[in-house]
Amino acid sequence: MSQITDQTARRRTFAIISHPDAGKTTLTEKLLLYGGAIQLAGSVKARRNQRKATSDWMELEKERGISVTSTVLQFEYKDHVLNLLDTPGHNDFSADTYRTLTAADSAVMLIDNAKGVETQTKKLFAVCRDRGIPIFTFVNKMDHPGRGPLALLTEVEEVLGIASVPVNWPIGQGSDFKGVYDRETKKVHLYSRTAHGATKAELEVLNLDDPRITDVIGADLYQTLLDDIDLLDIAGEGLELEKVARGELTPVFFGSALTNFGVELFLSRFMDIAPAPTVRVADKGPVPAEGPFSGFVFKIQANMDPNHRDRIAFLRVVSGRFEKDMEAAHTRTGKKLRLSRPQRLFAQDRETVEEAYPGDIVGLTNPGAFQLGDTLSSGEIIRFDEVPSFAPEVFSFIRNDDVGRLKHFEKGIQQLCEEGLVDLFWDRRSARREPILGAVGKLQFEVVQHRLRSEYGVESGLEPLGFEVIRWVEGDPVELRSVYWGSNARLVEDDFGNAVVLIMSAWNLQYLEDQNPKLQFFKSRNEL
Ligand code: GDP
Repeated sequence: MSQITDQTARRRTFAIISHPDAGKTTLTEKLLLYGGAIQLAGSVKARRNQRKATSDWMELEKERGISVTSTVLQFEYKDHVLNLLDTPGHNDFSADTYRTLTAADSAVMLIDNAKGVETQTKKLFAVCRDRGIPIFTFVNKMDHPGRGPLALLTEVEEVLGIASVPVNWPIGQGSDFKGVYDRETKKVHLYSRTAHGATKAELEVLNLDDPRITDVIGADLYQTLLDDIDLLDIAGEGLELEKVARGELTPVFFGSALTNFGVELFLSRFMDIAPAPTVRVADKGPVPAEGPFSGFVFKIQANMDPNHRDRIAFLRVVSGRFEKDMEAAHTRTGKKLRLSRPQRLFAQDRETVEEAYPGDIVGLTNPGAFQLGDTLSSGEIIRFDEVPSFAPEVFSFIRNDDVGRLKHFEKGIQQLCEEGLVDLFWDRRSARREPILGAVGKLQFEVVQHRLRSEYGVESGLEPLGFEVIRWVEGDPVELRSVYWGSNARLVEDDFGNAVVLIMSAWNLQYLEDQNPKLQFFKSRNEL
């Protein structure tokens, strides 16, 4: 087997999707604990708190209790290399989340035993389903009283519309949670609690007919377990891996991240079933992992670390071997770029990457060279079209309130726009020089203001505009200029010089379309 094929087969690149508070941070820590990346789970959190204290713009995260940024963690488990993409949970960041999920090959859907399928779970699930990636379910907090496994599985099937197959089955729940039964090996995993789950759980694995089981779980729970197993074997669906691969069937695991119950069992099975990086389709056809280097930029972030005031473009390697200082063609500009100082980011720490393989995420620091969605390749020039752009739904003028810092204001706005946090529009027909920001949710405007203040030292003011609908327009330039847009619409330019109309409502749009049959209206820039 070639080195690239071998390395690709070892990789699992995935994201955890969940509603806030379901236990994503906790599960991440435990995966790292079992993955051997750190000795004591909890250091991620400690690191995170430390980072929050030192980095100003993380304050917003803390205030709002949301995760604004995503990081990538890489760790090893047995023979595998795992790349865990962290997705922000908050609603207003769905565009960022969507982009991050384009880099994942599978998703782990985390559900709180007591709360079941929550709103944010539904939205993120829809994104994964849209992309057709395999979805694994981990029902967390089994040590907490909840609805019970059967009710939860029914909810997953009914609310999300995906069939489910339990890979393991919980024995009791709440204070009676004793462990899980592994359906494949037909063994019972009994757990003992460790202090705050800081070290790996001690585990006893017994055959189902081992008499010691009843000593630990009691005759009643044992009988319930036997009945449940019968029911699952008779009524349940089998674990058809092809259906899992197509995202039609979700394997379900039960456990408790806090106390480490079921985490390792999950991890080891996940390694077996989850897909390794595979072919992605570019404009010239499928790109298999084996071949020249290629990849795409799915995320850009400025000032991740106050000590390194640079912009990082996160590249997902699709094929070939990435090497430090290699040259690659940049499809959008046609230029050759030297990829120097590639980084791997572990929470806030960085280390230089010497090489990377399909599925890996590399942080590139070339100043200003990259836009979201850009493709790089060292072979034939190709273009991946993996990263969608989203039409903004809220709009606002943003004003620089400090005349002496105009340059900083402009730089800040431009960089935050590059990240895809907001889109920029310019009203060339008015005397106003300020940009109009467009975003999918209002919270993004707050983030922009907050980051302008803390990262660029600029105070700004917002003047919200009442538009709700956006259309890119194409047509004869003379005709375009002569249109009377009225007070319910405004003709502006996007940052690339395209004509765009901001419109009050869908009704107004309909009117404009009827009045101007020669113009073409597009929902997004991609459609131009
Ligand atoms: P996130 O918002 O999804 O990242 O959730 P966190 O990992 O921060 O967890 C939210 C809360 O749930 C914290 O207080 C955790 O200690 C708690 N928690 C996480 N996993 C479990 C679990 O397995 N059992 C119980 N009882 N609590 C948990």
